[in-house]
Amino acid sequence: MNDATREVFGNIAPWMQVVFFGIMALSIGWPVWQVWTRARLWRKGQRDGFERSWRVRIQRLIIYALAQKRVHRKSLGALLHLLLFSGFVVLTIGTTLLAIAHDGPYDFHHGWYYLIYELTMDVFGVAFIIGCLLAMYRRAFHRKPSLGHNKSDWWLLGLLLSLGVTGFAVEALRMHYTHVQPWLAHWSTVGWLIDTTLLRGLDIGTARTLHLAAWWLHAILVAAFFATIPVSRFLHVITGPANIAGRPERPMGALIPLTIEEVERTGRTGVNTIFNFTRQQLLSLDACMECGRCEDACPATASNKPLSPKAVVIDLRGLMSRGGGDVHTAIRDETLWACTMCQACVEECPVLIGHVDLISDMRRDLIGEGKLSGPPTKALQQISNQSNPYGRPNSERLVWAEGLDVLTVDVNPGFEYLLWVGCAASFDPRAQKVARATAQLFKEAKVNFAVLGAKESCTGDPARRIGDEFLYQQLAQANVETLTRHKAKKIVTPCPHCYNTLKNEYPQFGGQYEVQHHSQLLAQLIGAGRLSNGTSTGEPVTLHDPCYLARVNREVDATRTVIGAATDAQFREMPRHGKKTFCCGAGGGRMWFDESPAQRVSCLRAQEALATGARTLATACPFCLNMMTDGMAGTQGGEKTKVLDIAELLLSRQNAK
Ligand code: SF4
Ligand code: SF4
Repeated sequence: MNDATREVFGNIAPWMQVVFFGIMALSIGWPVWQVWTRARLWRKGQRDGFERSWRVRIQRLIIYALAQKRVHRKSLGALLHLLLFSGFVVLTIGTTLLAIAHDGPYDFHHGWYYLIYELTMDVFGVAFIIGCLLAMYRRAFHRKPSLGHNKSDWWLLGLLLSLGVTGFAVEALRMHYTHVQPWLAHWSTVGWLIDTTLLRGLDIGTARTLHLAAWWLHAILVAAFFATIPVSRFLHVITGPANIAGRPERPMGALIPLTIEEVERTGRTGVNTIFNFTRQQLLSLDACMECGRCEDACPATASNKPLSPKAVVIDLRGLMSRGGGDVHTAIRDETLWACTMCQACVEECPVLIGHVDLISDMRRDLIGEGKLSGPPTKALQQISNQSNPYGRPNSERLVWAEGLDVLTVDVNPGFEYLLWVGCAASFDPRAQKVARATAQLFKEAKVNFAVLGAKESCTGDPARRIGDEFLYQQLAQANVETLTRHKAKKIVTPCPHCYNTLKNEYPQFGGQYEVQHHSQLLAQLIGAGRLSNGTSTGEPVTLHDPCYLARVNREVDATRTVIGAATDAQFREMPRHGKKTFCCGAGGGRMWFDESPAQRVSCLRAQEALATGARTLATACPFCLNMMTDGMAGTQGGEKTKVLDIAELLLSRQNAK
């Protein structure tokens, strides 16, 4: 068994081996030089100052690069990528091991190792070829519009396919002229099959000549592949893992703060030229493989707005390749304003590109240049003047609680939970009912809670998402001071945007709290038996998961627990639910923008909800509540569908008993 092995370079004359190594050195040196040149462009970007731990980098590489977590899904694209990727990785490792065994001090390429090696290389070689064929099939017959494509892709796929085919040809011809014994040949299954069928009867001399020709062709194709990496889509095999490993560690919902020192140093409030982005962001532009997953998930693209997250990345990359320039010449202002900051693109991207950070940085510059007009400007002015985007006096913040005997922090300073009501539930007549339902449920469960009343201000979320970073910071600092003064430790809020800001962004300003969304506390109270279950068998219910709860903060169970307790009516999931939820259209400050009826994201979502056959649409966000109410009203068949917050649904169980 120990004799089991094979020749390496057996049919290749010594001078040919020298030529081969020369070609390989050039073909590897060229892409290294090209990537180095590209890296010099990335290094023109700004340092971001984030710490990166090696443990997290390695974890990320294992999860996203090696295990391809984001690529997994039931689709042809996912299958072919898995086959291509696994084949590529195993064949590369195998070839490297062969080189080490052949040229290193210890030849381990024999015995059981050799047999398993041969079988493994054949299996993954076949996977690689099938992956190539499926990729060609998809491009020819099933190419989705969002998938990047140009004619050179056919050459690239042809190159990969030829690499796989010539690899097997070399194996079969070598087996033929070396007369490999059958028991040994079976381990090189594909080579053996070709040898015993297609090469049957071929004389040894011809087999040697053909082997030499196939070997050289294979070697030249390998060299061509290396040379193509830096100037083609293949570049992502380097930049993808580099971006995955290097992306800053911070919660998905936390935008990067901008400091006054930075503004004074650079003279700008955001990004206006390509090299104002950070080095990591510039590298991320080169990691895009144009798969189109971000575009498929984008509500702005789906509702015909002038935004595709993929195009943003590609256009910025083009600007970097041209040596730099004003980002606003590459990305239109309308494109930037169209984003709802729902993070669906970020969630989908296999190489962890941060589209929202790119867009937010450019929005900050537009705000700095005074390029925003219309209703969102008014909302910002009202936040600045009245501490809420509705332009109402803060003294009216407790109107929603009339008759409920809700205590303020001054009356009940020993509160356990601070109920952060949020501007929408404080001032918007429809959302006020959510605040009332939440407070009634807390009272029923005997929760010791209090509200800030007139001392509550906007968290600053809309200002930050629109791009007015300093208005946001002003509000954040004032709110942190108020919360500290009243010794708030546990905060609960019915608004996922307030929840996200208080939980993920206030720590940037020294505010550390135990923050819960009302769905989480209600689910906890139900679990503890402090709120009873409903007994009604009503009409089917579906749930619209708010982006900033389900996707951004990974909370998908609490809302379902509350619905389960509120009603035993049939619960029907929409196709896009949980972390894959689809935006209602209100995020990113879009709540304050004018929108033509034909471009309403909420109508698309309403159609999805109606398709489940549910007659009640539950949600857990005052903004989603408003958007989905409008969406249902503007969608045929939606007029009779009830849109309720989960707190309202849970409270209504009492009436149904
Ligand atoms: S955050 Fe949402 S709206 Fe903005 S680009 Fe990404 S998917 Fe589109
Ligand atoms: S940004 Fe990410 S998801 Fe979008 S096309 Fe590029 S690689 Fe794909």
